[in-house]
Amino acid sequence: MKVQLQLETIPVWDGVKEGSECFICSLMKKAEEDGVRYYLSSAVMTPEVRVETNTHGFCTHHLSMLAEAGKPQPLALVMDTYYEESRKILAPIAERIASSPNARKAMKLVHAFFDAAGERERGCLICSRMEERLVRYCYTVASLWRDDQDFRAALEESKGFCLHHARSLLETAPEALSGDDLAEYARFIISLTMRNLDRVQHDDWWMTQKYKSENRDKPWSGCEDAQKRAVYKLTGEGRVIDPVRK
Ligand SMILES: [Zn+2]
Ligand SMILES: [Zn+2]
Repeated sequence: MKVQLQLETIPVWDGVKEGSECFICSLMKKAEEDGVRYYLSSAVMTPEVRVETNTHGFCTHHLSMLAEAGKPQPLALVMDTYYEESRKILAPIAERIASSPNARKAMKLVHAFFDAAGERERGCLICSRMEERLVRYCYTVASLWRDDQDFRAALEESKGFCLHHARSLLETAPEALSGDDLAEYARFIISLTMRNLDRVQHDDWWMTQKYKSENRDKPWSGCEDAQKRAVYKLTGEGRVIDPVRK
């Protein structure tokens, strides 16, 4: 018996209708914005959330997003006690470096100092919140594909997914599907992905041709942004980087 995850039918149906290169990317960018907003809200005034931020913190990508979000006061609070937590770990090593008798001992402690600092960088609360949603979205896609013929047809007609999220979809699929359904879903997603990677490559190729003088007057045919789509069709956007491992 499989664990029933929460279905996100409405956002997933809205997503498949939006006509983008990967609607999971769109949903994850929204999840990322929501995560940044949450950790710059009054939630960070509560002791429980501050224990979380002090313990786990954020990946460098999401720290940058927090820094650039234009919310100085809540971020200052979060960073003040985060620094305090780091200080508890780093200060004793710093003191031992200060009193170390020779280079060998000092450099060994320097390594320990930066190993501890690196350890503090691991795990990101925003990535964790994003991952929870990603799993639910991928689970929903697989469930709707099985249960709703209209959804399956809409997906077939869609531009598919980025390569990054095609992997997420198939890694999550065994939560929703098994046996023949799972095999058919794997074939469906991979064939949809390959077909749409080829389409994006063709658009990118047409852009290379458009820059030749003999093609100057030919139509762009929707390829004005093909180089960017070529990038994001592979890498995806709104990626989960380093969730807290429980
Ligand atoms: Zn994507
Ligand atoms: Zn992160």
